[in-house]
Amino acid sequence: MTIEGGCLCKAVRYSSSAQPVITRVCWCRTCQYVAAGNATVNVFFRTESFTVQGETRDYASVADSGNIIHRRFCPQCGTPLFTGAEARPHVIGVRAGTLDDPNSVQPAMTIWTDSAPRWACIAESIPRVARQPPPLA
Ligand SMILES: [Zn+2]
Ligand SMILES: [Zn+2]
Repeated sequence: MTIEGGCLCKAVRYSSSAQPVITRVCWCRTCQYVAAGNATVNVFFRTESFTVQGETRDYASVADSGNIIHRRFCPQCGTPLFTGAEARPHVIGVRAGTLDDPNSVQPAMTIWTDSAPRWACIAESIPRVARQPPPLA
């Protein structure tokens, strides 16, 4: 089954021929900027089964985890699309809001809950990790 998505203006489109490795909710301080005050929801795919069409811009920064993270967005409409750690090029994180069908995924874990504001809504039904979880295999 192919999973597809793209940015708001449709200048960038992507598809994965494989199911995601995991979907995680992230409350790290940087994600709160990207997600307008909320957590990001990130769907991790293997890059070997993932293709992107269209131009993205890239902002690299050092995350709370100490990893250098590249955040790619559409230069036309500004939609945050992808995230990836330099140390782990075999996986790409996709912002769940850009999926054609956000119901096609299900978050399995909430991470960086220590950085969440007091008013954050955090799911009771899935595991929480206070800071950075172990890297994806
Ligand atoms: Zn766009
Ligand atoms: Zn984060």
